[in-house]
Amino acid sequence: MGLLKRGLFCPHLVCVALAIVVSLPASAQSILGFTPASAAHQIEIENKFKAIPSPAEEQRQHHIFTSEPHVAGSARNNELARYIADQWRNEGIEDVVIRRYDVYGSNPKFTSLEMVAPVHYRALLRELPIPGDPDSKNRSISSAWSGMSASGEITAPLVYAHSGNPEDYELLRKQGIDVKGKVVLVRYSNPYSYRGFKALTAEREGAAAILIYSDPAEDGFKRGQVDPKGPWGPEYHIQRGAITYDFMVPGDPLTPGWASIPGAKRIPVEQAVSIPKIMALPLSWHDAKPLLANMDGPLAPTDWQGQDWQGGLPIKYRLGGNRVRVHVKIEMDTSTQPYYVVEGRIRGSELPDEWIVLGNHRDAWVFGGVDPSSGTASMMEMTRALGKLNRQGMRPRRTIVVCSWDGEEVGLTGSTEWGEQFADELRKKAVAYINVDSSTSGPNFHGQAVASLAPMLVETSRSLKDPSGKSLYEAWKESTARERVAAKQSEEVQDSNLADTRIGSGSDHTVFLNFVGMPVLGLQFDGPYGVYHSAYDDYFWMNHFGDPGYRYHTLMSQLWGVLALRLANADLLPFDFANYAANIRQFVNELAKSDTVILGEAAVQRSGTAAQSKDPCPTCEPSGSAAPPLDLSGILSAIDDFEAAGKRLDESAARALASSAIDPKLADAINHGEMELERNWLNPDGIPGRPWFKHILYGARFTYAHLELPGLTEAVEKQDWATAKQQAEILRSALDKNTSLVNNLSAKLKSQGSSTEK
Ligand SMILES: [Zn+2]
Repeated sequence: MGLLKRGLFCPHLVCVALAIVVSLPASAQSILGFTPASAAHQIEIENKFKAIPSPAEEQRQHHIFTSEPHVAGSARNNELARYIADQWRNEGIEDVVIRRYDVYGSNPKFTSLEMVAPVHYRALLRELPIPGDPDSKNRSISSAWSGMSASGEITAPLVYAHSGNPEDYELLRKQGIDVKGKVVLVRYSNPYSYRGFKALTAEREGAAAILIYSDPAEDGFKRGQVDPKGPWGPEYHIQRGAITYDFMVPGDPLTPGWASIPGAKRIPVEQAVSIPKIMALPLSWHDAKPLLANMDGPLAPTDWQGQDWQGGLPIKYRLGGNRVRVHVKIEMDTSTQPYYVVEGRIRGSELPDEWIVLGNHRDAWVFGGVDPSSGTASMMEMTRALGKLNRQGMRPRRTIVVCSWDGEEVGLTGSTEWGEQFADELRKKAVAYINVDSSTSGPNFHGQAVASLAPMLVETSRSLKDPSGKSLYEAWKESTARERVAAKQSEEVQDSNLADTRIGSGSDHTVFLNFVGMPVLGLQFDGPYGVYHSAYDDYFWMNHFGDPGYRYHTLMSQLWGVLALRLANADLLPFDFANYAANIRQFVNELAKSDTVILGEAAVQRSGTAAQSKDPCPTCEPSGSAAPPLDLSGILSAIDDFEAAGKRLDESAARALASSAIDPKLADAINHGEMELERNWLNPDGIPGRPWFKHILYGARFTYAHLELPGLTEAVEKQDWATAKQQAEILRSALDKNTSLVNNLSAKLKSQGSSTEK
């Protein structure tokens, strides 16, 4: 792509800083945002820090967290909250508190599924024990259920609706199959969409219930050996999960936008947009197979808009609609229940009111071997190491806040309530949030960052050692290259595109990015993993397939902590706004590929081959009238200005850092300005139709997929030009605001530079 060839992603601060330290001894290492002296000191701290986490301790912690099922709201999950709090207090983490949120509950009282015609079959809705895995015999493993399912009872015909995405219902309609009042059977993934989106789609189509099963083609025997012989999902594995419409608003459905603390106002259930009105159940393929095998109707297509509706089971998949009738009965307990967030911190020695926030969710569908207890184990080793350094007198300059979230699996609930409760304080004090959900299901690293933090993430990966013996950076590049080849992506792996800067939803970073306006990072190692959200995602699986030896867990603790320490100790915060600008330009250029958007002649020259000039096309609008072209050339020039300002700031910051003489008051002013920048991407009104989601650059589709420039993109997709123009204006004025913010910061740095030269 043009952007990459032109090297616009070059992290300028790195370039300048490297140029400056060239003459230093080989042992000296530069770090973004650090003077040479503080970089040397930082490296010492990091080396001490990295030596503390151990694979044996990771394994011990992982075993504690995975010893029993610990779903949100359960006694065991609450016990684990107290365990974390006790550990943190013992380890030297300060101000440890457990915060309580009383939220709309969603727990199964009764679930059943029977096929009543043409033959009788009662679904097991259970996972049978696996030889060699003692935890799979645990009697407290839940049966199949979907978080936030509606309660009810229905006997109705069953229809196979492939992945349950809107285009799948189009095919059914073409075949004369109506799903109104019927039960739809859909599979997970292929292509991936969040199960809550499948539920909403079925609800909109008028279906009475949705059954979502795991087809072996996507996570079972068609992919490879299944548990206990391999990492893929066995016959009985059930992917539980919530269907909450948290793409509308996450968190407690009854307190949208404010915290569910005692005494908080609550809206009536009927007004809660994130509570589904459809019944839902997840199924193993063991339970789905008899239903599919008895279906009548047309054969499911092998190629409909590029999708193969035939799955991995040795049967002919049919669309159904008449012959198979099922009886679904679900009773949910929706009484209010408490969720508990554990919060602790290490108070900063110099800048206690600047916060680096770290978080992982604690609640699991069952044992949570990967999701999330691998991340919880990594967190516990990371906090033990931070506590130890603190006790040895190495207190970070800024405050590090660490949180164990609850109810992530239900609707990102604990983090959302906490973020809403402290939004005002976070908007003043927060530097960044680093999320680790699942830490490890294999050796392949994936790092996500808002574009301004991508360069520091890539830089940090160079200073960590992968279990393969290479640097994490090298290992990351190699696995990314392999993945791009496998996905037939032509983009060459470079530093500038290594970190994923497209951030959707689906984990606890959401409230911080989209509601509070904080820069976020997300870290994960992954690999073949077919037991997600099932009872087989446990200690056995991790020790046999995910991370035998716990070396990636350990690396995660090191990486997470080193990133936190760099943000906490930097002289000047390591944001790269020129890189942010280049990313925003790419987002705009992608939008401009749409036939209905023009960029203007000057813009086309600037953006090279990435965007084509389009004539306003008379057939673009459904009405057939002349389409009002959306001219984004003004935005592109505002991006150019923002990029130029970012480069100037990078240069003046690198010069100031190299001179080693930054007045602390000036550094303070620069850092606070930099912290404001992300907040300026918020539109208080939110994106059209979803007021909770306030970030104008980052959003998520209903499927959870990333959605850049969400307000503008959705308006363009709907060809709603009035809204598109409004959204473009909002983007433009945010760009202008941040350009002048960054210019002011450069001017401040320059004025000190000239005064010290005298
Ligand atoms: Zn998770």
